Amino acid sequence: MRSIGHFIGGKEVKGNSGRTADVFEPMTGEVQAKVALASKAEVRAAVENARAAQPEWAATNPQRRARVMMKFLELVQRDYDKLAELLAREHGKTVPDAKGDIQRGLEVAEFACGIPHLMKGEYTEGAGPGIDIYSMRQPLGVVAGITPFNFPAMIPMWKFAPAIACGNAFILKPSERDPGVPMKLAELMMEAGLPAGILNVVNGDKEAVDAILDDPDIKAIGFVGSTPIAQYIYERAAQTGKRCQCFGGAKNHAIIMPDADMDQTVDALIGAGYGSAGERCMAVSVAVPVGKTTADRLMEKLIPRVESLKIGTSVDPSADYGPLVTREAVEKVKNYIDIGIKEGATLAVDGRGFKMQGYEKGFYLGGSLFDNVTKDMRIYKEEIFGPVLSVVRAHDYGEALALPSEHDYGNGVAIFTRDGDAARDFAAKVNVGMVGINVPIPVPIAYYTFGGWKKSGFGDLNQHGPDSIRFYTKTKTVTSRWPSGVKEGAEFSIPLMK
Ligand code: NAD
Repeated sequence: MRSIGHFIGGKEVKGNSGRTADVFEPMTGEVQAKVALASKAEVRAAVENARAAQPEWAATNPQRRARVMMKFLELVQRDYDKLAELLAREHGKTVPDAKGDIQRGLEVAEFACGIPHLMKGEYTEGAGPGIDIYSMRQPLGVVAGITPFNFPAMIPMWKFAPAIACGNAFILKPSERDPGVPMKLAELMMEAGLPAGILNVVNGDKEAVDAILDDPDIKAIGFVGSTPIAQYIYERAAQTGKRCQCFGGAKNHAIIMPDADMDQTVDALIGAGYGSAGERCMAVSVAVPVGKTTADRLMEKLIPRVESLKIGTSVDPSADYGPLVTREAVEKVKNYIDIGIKEGATLAVDGRGFKMQGYEKGFYLGGSLFDNVTKDMRIYKEEIFGPVLSVVRAHDYGEALALPSEHDYGNGVAIFTRDGDAARDFAAKVNVGMVGINVPIPVPIAYYTFGGWKKSGFGDLNQHGPDSIRFYTKTKTVTSRWPSGVKEGAEFSIPLMK
């Protein structure tokens, strides 16, 4: 059986804590690898390597740092198929979806290739007599990323690519459920010419995370995962004065206006609700048709589509989606379906009985669809994170706008309409971080920033785009006077620029 250690000081090292976790192959339900769980001492070893290597990397000019990133892009492209298959076999998502996971991460690495331009400071000549002012961006030092299971390529790259391009050294703590691809990405960064110690991967669980939180040499933490852990990390990091951004769970609504193109909308809901078995933070999990006729038209088209979803293995290219990540994830989703029935929602399609022939031990679940969900129900309030879509019928636009706006989560939202006025009003007023207009999964492209509001995001700056450069650097502002011989006498009041 494969055993996965850590990546410290430029090479894979065996774990020595004596603790490991099983890495499953969701499509068969078999254990395929053992991953080491780092102790505090192993995290410390990674930080020491990072700290020793970082000053020289920060002093390397930005165009040379960009060249490493460019080479990395080339190497990931070279190994694209192998990486996608490994990712699919550890996560469960299908190979084409795994390729998308890698691609959306690579786009952020592409953005980071612009680091010579992105890190430029500002300059003002003649702000006072002989006085010029300029600002510069400097890296923070050693920074860390703690990432979830559901995008094992994309989210690590969202974190380490901009951080490293800015001149930081990075400690990545990926999900212990699918650590294979993050380890391969670290190897490829080395092959691309990154000096040893600049990208380290420590595999582990809460013990490794707490060691990162408490380490005085780690200056910033970027976290993505569930809301309770996001909140825990944000609060504990603040106590030790670390810069921190934490992205949490979601409950993304899609509003369907009476004038929406219903065929297009149903296509969008099917893909965004059930793709990747609903295990995406931007998955649509609530559909809100406006008005009874819209709701009835929607259900008429949606029910047969959910019933005919094609669930397959992770390596079946014709599958709409594959297995969930673990047996526990399947049980959790089934439990929510039981809760929804008890709460009085109408289970229009029940996916609980689905069995994958020949793969009976795999973590499969059919698509489920609830109608007549109301906002007091747990299945509406809580994140299910599985192939389940809830339909909440709204009487009018005002009620539909209020639903996502008042929900605890505020990651993504979408509106389907042909009415430009309604779309514009919705985008301006809705209390959610990312908005799609006839776009079900509005994940911004790499050169814009990504981040949810309310319980979906803690911290001031978003991920990727210009915010990532701000997050991974600190600004220094220099006020200089040349020639130094200008004599103005002693100044006892607050100096003003004359
Ligand atoms: P998770 O919170 O269980 O784990 C995330 C990370 O935290 C992992 O690295 C894990 O090892 C670590 N962790 C888990 N329990 C911990 C604990 N008690 N103490 C310290 N660290 C701990 O999340 P997950 O199940 O891997 O991922 C799914 C969640 O991530 C969903 O809620 C999803 O919405 C969310 N997510 C959010 C975004 C976003 O951008 N907002 C993106 C992707 C996923």
